[in-house]
Amino acid sequence: MNERDSEEVLGMLTAQGYEVAPQPEQADVILLNTCSVRQHAEERALGKMGELSVLKQERPELILGIIGCMAKLQQDAIFKRLPKVDLVAGPAELYDLPYLLAEIQEKRQQDPPQRVMAVNRAFRPLEQKPAGDYRTPGVKAFVTIMEGCDKACTYCIVPTTRGQEVSRPAEDIIAEVNRLVAAGYREVTLLGQNVNSYGKRFPDGSGYRGPLGRLRLLEDDPVTLLDFPKLLRLIERRTRVPRIRFTTSHPFDANERLFEAMRDCESVCESLHLPVQSGSDRTLRAMRRGYTAQAYLKKIERLRHNVPDISLSTDLIVGFPGETEEDFEATARLMREIRFDNAYIFKYSPRPGTDAAAREDDVPQEVKEHRNQTLLTLHQTIMQSRQRSLLGTTTELLIEGPGKWPGQWFGRTRGYFSAIVDHHESLTGRFVQARITRCAGSTLFGELV
Ligand code: SAM
Ligand code: SF4
Repeated sequence: MNERDSEEVLGMLTAQGYEVAPQPEQADVILLNTCSVRQHAEERALGKMGELSVLKQERPELILGIIGCMAKLQQDAIFKRLPKVDLVAGPAELYDLPYLLAEIQEKRQQDPPQRVMAVNRAFRPLEQKPAGDYRTPGVKAFVTIMEGCDKACTYCIVPTTRGQEVSRPAEDIIAEVNRLVAAGYREVTLLGQNVNSYGKRFPDGSGYRGPLGRLRLLEDDPVTLLDFPKLLRLIERRTRVPRIRFTTSHPFDANERLFEAMRDCESVCESLHLPVQSGSDRTLRAMRRGYTAQAYLKKIERLRHNVPDISLSTDLIVGFPGETEEDFEATARLMREIRFDNAYIFKYSPRPGTDAAAREDDVPQEVKEHRNQTLLTLHQTIMQSRQRSLLGTTTELLIEGPGKWPGQWFGRTRGYFSAIVDHHESLTGRFVQARITRCAGSTLFGELV
């Protein structure tokens, strides 16, 4: 694991409401980032974690984790040698850290306490609240609707570590959403690596690609295939959750049926994360993404036709093996054309065992860095102009909790923009209407109306 990954972990956890502690003694979570390139580095990491384990004598609630490639390779040995370590996660589990940390908290309440290893986990239980919810319990919850991934993007380790896609039965999902709503939750985010292929394969062998080869039909609607758009409609009809979000969508499987369901379901927020990865057809082919830039643009056109005020976010990778200046320009062009409201930009780094890792990582680090900066700057410009366009408008916010200063409340629009309003008493968990009066950084500021 490299510095880039450390930055990503930091960014991700900060986004979830964690703050950086000045000293290990003041931290609630300590994650040691490791690399297995040299034996000496491994020994040093284990030694360092041994030292940090002492802190747990005074504060047993402290969470200790080892992350990175060494962790992945030596997970059994680590747990044996360092009994105080709670979490071991490899590079592929990086994006799951908030969930894994939440899982630890939950397992600690069990008897006997269990430890968490980020491999082949089963569906997360209802009560688990991801780390982002520590600040805002009871407002937003995450519900896993499928595990695994059937795609084979050449840069990605997820299919190897998570295996084949398996969808969770719709009845379970609906029951979980209903329990969450009864417990006061206002928003659920449906989770899966590719939620758009929901329904392909269920644990009982049914599904439109299940080994039994039979379609999963709905009890109350025996002619309709159970797929993701149908699941959205079912949740809308059979629960009273006010807001539904979902992530991640794959452009190949996002289709007109999805856009129509988003248009028709009032509870589904006007926000879609649709990772494009690149704007160059050559690179998209080498990534094995299964669509062209033109096909992606066409989907966005259909989406905007169905949901005109949709807010769009994406993932982009710069510096994929063989990416030329021309390929990169195509990505920047696509970004300018679509004007994403948010973009997560990654510098390519090889994940051992993936097809892309067999290719030479030939884009120099400084070129990756420069391309990353160029896209970040472009993203800032687009985001700022989008925010300015919201000035003076009135929008619904779901308040997630207190803001940074007393009397401030932090919430999100249906389009997932962060916003702050002032009020003398708690607004946590409430829907409010706010008129946007100014913006700063990536945050909107508004007045209650
Ligand atoms: N399933 C989602 C999808 O299809 O887009 C995303 C899963 S992945 C864990 C999250 C993001 O990490 C990807 O969209 C991609 O941009 C980035 N990513 C994955 N592997 C990467 C690699 N080897 N180097 C750089 N970025 C990578
Ligand atoms: Fe699956 Fe997403 Fe990885 Fe592609 S990037 S293999 S869709 S998890």
